[in-house]
Amino acid sequence: MIIDFHTHSHASDGALAPGDLLAEAVAAGVQQFALTDHDTVAGYRALREAGAALHGNMQLLAGTELSTLWSGVGIHVVGLGMDIDHPVLHAGLERLDAARRERAGLIAERLEKLGMPGALAGAQAEAGVSQIGRPHFAAWMVAQGHVEDANRAFDKYLGAGKIGDVETCWPPLAEATGWIVAAGGIAVLAHPLKYRMTRTKLKRCLQDFAAAGGSAMEVYSGRQTEEQTRDLCKLAVAMGLLASVGSDFHAHWDHGPRLGFDVSRLPGDVELLTAERLEGRAA
Ligand code: AMP
Ligand code: MN
Ligand code: MN
Ligand code: MN
Repeated sequence: MIIDFHTHSHASDGALAPGDLLAEAVAAGVQQFALTDHDTVAGYRALREAGAALHGNMQLLAGTELSTLWSGVGIHVVGLGMDIDHPVLHAGLERLDAARRERAGLIAERLEKLGMPGALAGAQAEAGVSQIGRPHFAAWMVAQGHVEDANRAFDKYLGAGKIGDVETCWPPLAEATGWIVAAGGIAVLAHPLKYRMTRTKLKRCLQDFAAAGGSAMEVYSGRQTEEQTRDLCKLAVAMGLLASVGSDFHAHWDHGPRLGFDVSRLPGDVELLTAERLEGRAA
């Protein structure tokens, strides 16, 4: 079975419209799919309103990827299968929307001090109606000739630990996890290897996440080696967490991940998160 529970459309920082992304997922043979835009469910809402005709037999789940803070580290939590109209989730997403705007102002101030005037208006223009984020600043910096490409923008200015990496606006991990759970969803700790934490710290993070109601972690999240996947599966089993898979697809990049992951590639002892499990929970 082919699953993809972590993808982005242009409702956040992905390149494709939600409907086009869905069509590509169908074409890639994905059978269970979630659109998980950063801090918004706008793209998923549009898909749901367009109806099942768009995706035929493919199961479409509600999704989002929340920006949170734990022990000074920006941690992403994927929410799946929740009621997108639940008031607790709604309030949480409003808070994150405000946090993104506030953060954009802070990033812009810092870039302006480095001799890049007009950063806020520029990034806002890049974002349009999408949820504004660092990739929009990167795109503007490239367009202005401040950097050669988006990678360089992250390496020099926006990536982890750089001047434009402002994480303080995000809600605590436990709180945002609680919003997903309150709305009847499953909370998944996204891409555990991207935080570059020591294994001891990562385990502490996963423990705190589980204590807050988190029940799964990604064992595959786009480009990673088979060895990393096996390692994450072992970690999920050891931590008593369900295993989730998603490509974290944003666009057709040369070396980027493809949509979908064949879960028969996972070791037999993991407890896999599937649409059936999510539905069984909701029933
Ligand atoms: P934000 O959600 O605004 O904090 O921006 C984070 C997003 O930037 C991630 O979800 C990625 O899509 C993108 N990103 C992170 N690191 C890089 C990088 N080194 N190069 C390009 N894009 C990146
Ligand atoms: Mn992104
Ligand atoms: Mn992420
Ligand atoms: Mn993502």
